[in-house]
Amino acid sequence: MIKKKYIDLFRVESENKVHLKNYDTGWAQTEEFKDFGKGKLKERAQIVLEQNIADLAQVQQLLYADDRYSLLIVFQAMDAAGKDGTIKHVMSGVNPQGCQVFSFKKPSIEDLDHNFLWRYMKSLPERGRIGIFNRSYYEDVLVVKVHPELLQNLPDGKRGKKFWESRYEDINAFEHHLKRNGTVILKFFLNVSKKEQKQRFMERLEHPEKNWKFSCSDLAEREHWDDYMKVYEDAINATSTKWAPWYIIPADNKWITRALVADIITSTLRNLDLEFPKLNEEQLKILAEARKTLEAE
Ligand code: ATP
Ligand code: MG
Repeated sequence: MIKKKYIDLFRVESENKVHLKNYDTGWAQTEEFKDFGKGKLKERAQIVLEQNIADLAQVQQLLYADDRYSLLIVFQAMDAAGKDGTIKHVMSGVNPQGCQVFSFKKPSIEDLDHNFLWRYMKSLPERGRIGIFNRSYYEDVLVVKVHPELLQNLPDGKRGKKFWESRYEDINAFEHHLKRNGTVILKFFLNVSKKEQKQRFMERLEHPEKNWKFSCSDLAEREHWDDYMKVYEDAINATSTKWAPWYIIPADNKWITRALVADIITSTLRNLDLEFPKLNEEQLKILAEARKTLEAE
């Protein structure tokens, strides 16, 4: 397990203002983490990931048996930051019956004809389960804020500061509602640098087996990098709450991203008061009877 004091560094506290520029996208280079040992960081991260994958499988079973909470995990990031790979690795040990992944792409006409939270509400995890949102309702204050022409038809033409503030307010209220109904929420922003994104795009172009991952629209969005950083910063500052904190995860080193995300998910579940359901006397009696019946066969 990674020490709590390190994990806490990545969580955005509601009272703090975040400047993304101050967040290291690499982590491996950061002084504070030198007690992992120089050159050993990758190995250490892999061990942490493996431990957590095993722990997560166990604790997920408990989440399911306990049947009071659900876990919603939101992933947001620029293209090629590693959302897909992180989800694949971190969830690799989990029972598929207890976990659902939803990838949100451009909304359909039907989606646009409803309130902006509608399509996400339909995909929320049921009690006892883990739901992963690969992109989420945050796109409606990110890509849509960068490209306001994507907005659905709405009354009242003004799309200024107040409009976006009302969307953050809606999101906070929605997440608070979920929290009060037993949904634990974790939000990860995979913080990749512009330089590393270029590197990963180049790999996609150079290796035929990775060509399919490249899309020209990725380059178009890269042109808006600074706008995206600004809208991410605004959204993270407006929606980091006690009930649904953001974690800003360094994403230039994939093995570190995965180890951190896995650790945060596992420790969040471990900190819940999960327990296997206890049977009452009546139910225990029924079991004793069943046992007797079987033994008498
Ligand atoms: P990958 O590239 O790894 O397949 P991805 O999540 O980038 O994963 P894409 O199909 O490339 O998937 O992109 C989905 C696109 O849909 C993104 O550009 C995203 O901004 C856009 N999108 C998601 N939600 C919304 C929304 N609510 N309104 C407008 N665009 C959205
Ligand atoms: Mg993409």
